Parts: sequence; C-alpha cells; structure tokens
Amino acid sequence: MDTAIAGAGAPDGWFGMDQRLRGLSPSATLAISERSAALKASGREVYRLGLGQSPFPVPECVREKLRSSAHEKDYLPVRGLERLRAAVAAYHARRHGIMRTGDDVLIGPGSKELMFILQMTVEGELLLPQPSWVSYEPQARLAGRRVHWIPTDREDGRRIDPVALRHCCEGLPRGPRILLLNYPNNPVGTTLGADRLKELAAVARHFGLLVLSDEIYGELNHRAGHVSIARYYPEGAIVSAGLSKWCGAGGWRLGTFSFPERLRSLLDAMTVVASETFTAVSAPVQFAATRAFDGGVEIDDYLDRSRAILQALGRAISARMRASGIAVDEPEGGFYLMPDFSAREKRLKLAGIRSGSDLCESVLQETGVAMLPGSCFGYPESDLSARIAYVDFDGAPALAAARKENGGALGAAFLDTHCGRVLKAVELLCDWFERF
Ligand code: GLU
Repeated sequence: MDTAIAGAGAPDGWFGMDQRLRGLSPSATLAISERSAALKASGREVYRLGLGQSPFPVPECVREKLRSSAHEKDYLPVRGLERLRAAVAAYHARRHGIMRTGDDVLIGPGSKELMFILQMTVEGELLLPQPSWVSYEPQARLAGRRVHWIPTDREDGRRIDPVALRHCCEGLPRGPRILLLNYPNNPVGTTLGADRLKELAAVARHFGLLVLSDEIYGELNHRAGHVSIARYYPEGAIVSAGLSKWCGAGGWRLGTFSFPERLRSLLDAMTVVASETFTAVSAPVQFAATRAFDGGVEIDDYLDRSRAILQALGRAISARMRASGIAVDEPEGGFYLMPDFSAREKRLKLAGIRSGSDLCESVLQETGVAMLPGSCFGYPESDLSARIAYVDFDGAPALAAARKENGGALGAAFLDTHCGRVLKAVELLCDWFERF
C-alpha cells in the first residue's frame, strides 16, 4: 500500500501510466490503517489513531431497516432513491435551516466519490485551507486541477480566515474557483461559528466562488451547534454530508450532496458522470439511509451520547498533551486532534527527527501509536504536526454506559473504563515527547 506511482508505467514499456498519477501513493488514511492491521497481525501492540472511522455502531433502528431491505435488488435511480433524497432535504431543513428539495440532492457511494466527480465535472482552480483532509488535493491532481493553499493561523485554531481568503482570491487571475471548506475540521478538530461563516460567505459572494462545504462531521459538533454556510451563501454552497461519521457507517459507503437550485446544471452534469461510472448506490443501503436521515428520538439520543463521549475524551487528551508541552487546540467537533511537536524542534532534530514523517515513524516504532504526519494534510515535510484520530475504543459499551450517566458530563472514571486505549496511547505519546 505504500508504493508511489512513478508515472512511467510498466518497466518493459508494455503500458503507460497517466502522468496525472505521477508521485501519488495510496491514500494516507487507508495506508496507515492497513499498516496498523499488518503490524497488529504480526503480534505488535498498535494503537490505531491513524484512520478516522467512527468507533460507534450504526444505530439499531438503521440496522433494522437495512435488514428489512435486503430484498431490494433493483438498480435505483442514478441520483438516488426519491424517498431518500427527500429525507436528506428534510434533514438539512430541520437541522440546518437550508431550504432545498429532494430534486437538489445527489446520492453517491461516499461523499469522497461525489467530491471526485465534482472535481472532474466543473471548471476552476481549487482553494484549500492549509491544513486540509488528505484526499482533496490528490483528487484535484487526478482531475488536472490547480490547487492554491490558504495559510491558517495556529493561534486561531487553524480556521480559515476571511481576510486570508480575500488575499488569495485577489492574487489569482480572474476565473472560476472552488473553495473547499470542512468543519468541524479534519485534521484539526476545531470548527467555524456563525460569525466567521457570514464573513466567509461575504467574500465568497464577492468573488463568485463555488463553495463545496464538507460538513460530514456536522452532527459531531460537540455542543450540537453546527451551522451550515449554506444559511449565509445559499446560492453558491453545495453541502456535502453522509452516513460515515455521525451514523457509524463508513463501510456502507453513502454520501450526499445538496445543491443550490441555481447549480442544477452541475447536478445534471454530475449525474451523467455517475450514470457512466457507479450507476447508483447499493439499494438496501439507500433504504436504510432513509431511516437515518428521518431522525427522531432514538437517533437524537444516539447522537447526544456520541457527542458527550467524544467531547469528554477530546478534552481529556488535549489537556494531557498540553501538560507535556505539546501544542494542541481545544477540540470542538469530530474525533481528530492535530498536536504540534515543534516546541522541542531542536532536540528532535538532534535525534534525527527532521520531518513529520520521521516523527510519526519514530512514535510508531517506539510506542506503537499510529498517526499521520502534517505533510499528508498539505503542510511541508518539515512541519512537526501530526493528526490523531481518537477512535481506538469500542463505542458500543461506551454508548450503553453513557446512557446510564444520565446526561451529565462524563468523567475520568468513565473514560478510564471505556476509552482506556486512547488514554494509554496519549500517555505513551507524551512520555515519548518528554524524552526530548
Ligand atoms: N475520513 C477518514 C480519515 O480522514 C478516512 C476515510 C477515507 O480516507 O476514505 O481518516
């Protein structure tokens, strides 16, 4: 899984490889997951903080719907099951105040695939906050698109700043541009609030940006306070969501795009590509997804408990890291943190650790903690940040026990019992750092 594509094709010249693939390797998230699994299989103790997948089981009512839909065997419409598209539109209206209909929704095999199809379909250069999730930039390269990174400030929780966005737009030649937002953020764990979103929307409107807003972690805002940028930029924001993160169903592969009516021609064009590629998402999964997006008491309760656990755990481990002198933001949503180890840069360098990759390799070898270097998220190799996904625990008993805690904040005893592996991993990471 770790071979980069050279670009020249087979050594004997039997076939050639498209030049757009030159230098690309398998996606870092999936590569670290497979590497961790292989190390584990070889008998090593590995703390799997590499791949970001939900630790929680799919809610029972959604699983039940999947079971009872097993007989659904026909191809569904390319855009998605009509009932599901209506449920997704209703969900966005209910949760985010976005007024769109089922006709504005496209269902795909994961939002990742829809993002790639968007990049294949629409013209324009891509604006990416630095850092950003691992696959946005490689997808742009595959689609032959130029990428412009927008620097963010560590003092500002590495949130995209409207002034930096404006500067970036002013410095570029005129032409179509796509801004890719993601909040709660992967890899940082911070999010964007209403004031910041209004300012970003004003800049986007001024420059006529197409905004792809990846809100896949929206339901995992730790305070249940997610706000969609589509509230403030309804005419230009596509909202990306799905089942993978909040519903614990990454492996089911179901993602959704919700388009402004004004972008119907783009939805139509993406439908053409979908029809020539994946055809339609698995039928039983689409039927089951209607239950998830319909929501209700059971789903709300599941989400309340998921958020409470992630919030308590994120706070505990970020505080532990800060106590060791590792700079890290206070988490606000999702299940990622991006600790910055540069406070000991000189001593790390003396020990031969000159890059984020060196750092992650050393941590993995010496402690068994798997994480991803900042370079996977658009930082230079020399950057000494790394991303951890604090998900190496069994979410089923944790959810069940969180119910018994009666909605109060979850304390140290709860975390020790149910999230012990993550606490242990962070302890090992801090011990490793303190040696320098
Ligand atoms: N979003 C997950 C992560 O950042 C992985 C999913 C994927 O790469 O397809 O770890």
